[in-house]
Amino acid sequence: KVRTRFAPSPTGFIHLGNIRSALYPWAFARSQGGTFILRIEDTDLERSTQAAVDVILEGMRWLGLDPDEGPFYQMQRMDRYREVIAQMRQQGLVYPCYMSVAALDALRERQMANKEKPRYDGTWRPEPGQAAAPVPEGVQPVWRFKNPIGGSVVWDDKVKGRIEISNEELDDLVIARPDGTPTYNFCVVVDDIDMEITHVIRGDDHVNNTPRQINIFRALGKEPPVYAHLPTVLNEQGEKMSKRNGAKPVTQYRDEGYLADGVVNYLARLGWSHGDDEIFSREQFLEWFDLDHLGKSAAQFDDAKLRWVNAQHMKATPDATLAGLVGDLLKQRGVTTDDRLPAICGLFKDRCDTTLVLADWAQRFYGDVTPNADEAAKHITDGVRPAIAMLAKMLEGCPWTKEAIGEAVKETLRATGLKMPQLAMPVRVLVMGTAQTPSLDAVLSLSVRDKVLDRLRSA
Ligand code: GLU
Repeated sequence: KVRTRFAPSPTGFIHLGNIRSALYPWAFARSQGGTFILRIEDTDLERSTQAAVDVILEGMRWLGLDPDEGPFYQMQRMDRYREVIAQMRQQGLVYPCYMSVAALDALRERQMANKEKPRYDGTWRPEPGQAAAPVPEGVQPVWRFKNPIGGSVVWDDKVKGRIEISNEELDDLVIARPDGTPTYNFCVVVDDIDMEITHVIRGDDHVNNTPRQINIFRALGKEPPVYAHLPTVLNEQGEKMSKRNGAKPVTQYRDEGYLADGVVNYLARLGWSHGDDEIFSREQFLEWFDLDHLGKSAAQFDDAKLRWVNAQHMKATPDATLAGLVGDLLKQRGVTTDDRLPAICGLFKDRCDTTLVLADWAQRFYGDVTPNADEAAKHITDGVRPAIAMLAKMLEGCPWTKEAIGEAVKETLRATGLKMPQLAMPVRVLVMGTAQTPSLDAVLSLSVRDKVLDRLRSA
C-alpha cells in the first residue's frame, strides 16, 4: 500500500516551486489508492513561524492537496526521537563523541588545507579490543551514528537513476546534540519509518542526505523507501526559485485570481509530462500520473505560461462555479451581485485569464461605468447621436431579451442607414465603458434596462 508524504519546513512562505513537492506525492498516493501524509518539519525553532505553517495549510487546502493523515509536527514528536536514540545507544549503534568544537574546527581546517572533504575522523568511535580514551570532565557528548565502514550505499532513484555512494565519503553523523535534541536527518528517518512511508518524493537538494538516511534505516532494521528526487524549479531569471529572489507565496496566486485547477495543471507539467498533453483536468492528471515520466532536468517557471494555462481552465470552468468565485471577489469590493452573474461570467470567461479580470468585467454590470475617454471621443460622434437616441426610445418598451434587443438594434440601423459597428461601438462605450466587448445584444440583455437607457441618454 503506497504511503507518501510532504515534509515542508515552515521557515519561509511556501512558493509554487516548493508546493510541487506536495503535488507529486499527493498525486502518486491518489493515483495508487494510497495515503498522503503531511509532516511539518519545524525543529528549526529560530526560523520556523506559525505564519509559514498557515500558508502551507491554506495553500494545500486551496489547491485541493488534502492530506489523509496529519499535519504531524516534529516538535511534538521529540519524545519519540529520544526513545529511538536510547534504543540505538542500547544496541551500540551510536557512540558518544567528546571532541570539542575547537578541535572539530581545527580538524576541518587541516582537511581543507589538504584539499580534502571535511569529515569527522572517527576519533571517538570505539574500536573493538581497544581501550576507550578517558572521558573529559564536565563535557556533554554528542551522539554519533556508526556509519558502516566499507561498501557503498546504492539506490535506484526514480528520477536520477542508479546512485552509488561509497561509505568512505560518509562520516559518522551526529544524531543527538549535547542536550539530547535529535538532528535533522535522524528525525526524517524515524518519521519515515513510523509513518510507514513507501515512496519519498522530494527536491533534489536532499539527494546528499539520502545515503546517510538509508544507512540509518538499515541500522534500525528497516528497508528504505523508494526515492524520487525532483530537479530544482528555476525562476524566469534561471536562478533557483526562492523567496529571496521574489517567489510569491502560493496563496498569493489565489488572491490574484488563479484557479486551483489551473495552478495544479501548470505545476503538474513543470517536471512531469504525459505525451504532448498540456491542458488537463485534475481527474485526468490523477489517472495519468506516474513516477516514470518525471523530468530529469530543471524546470523553469514561466509566468506567461501559467496565465495561459489558467485561461484554458477559465474557459472550461462552469459558469456557476466562476460566478461563486467572482461573487466573492465583488463582495470584497462592496459590490452586490444577483442571478445575472453566471450568465455574465459565461459571456466573458473566454477573454479572461484570471477571475480578477473576470470580476472587473462583471463589476461593470453592477456599478457606475465611466466610458474610456479616447474610445468615447472616437466613437460617440455627432453623426451617431440621433441613432443612439432612437435606439434608447426603442429599448424603452421592448421585451428585455437578446433577440428583441437585437431586433431593435437592426431596426435602428435600417432607419438611420448606419453600419453595425457605427452604432454598436458607441453604445458599448456608453454602457460598458469600452468598445472591446462581446456582442452588443448579449451585453445589453444582461444589463439593467434603466441603466442602459440612462447611459444612452447621457450621450
Ligand atoms: N523539510 C525538508 C524541506 O523542506 C524536506 C525533507 C524531506 O522531504 O525529506 O526541504
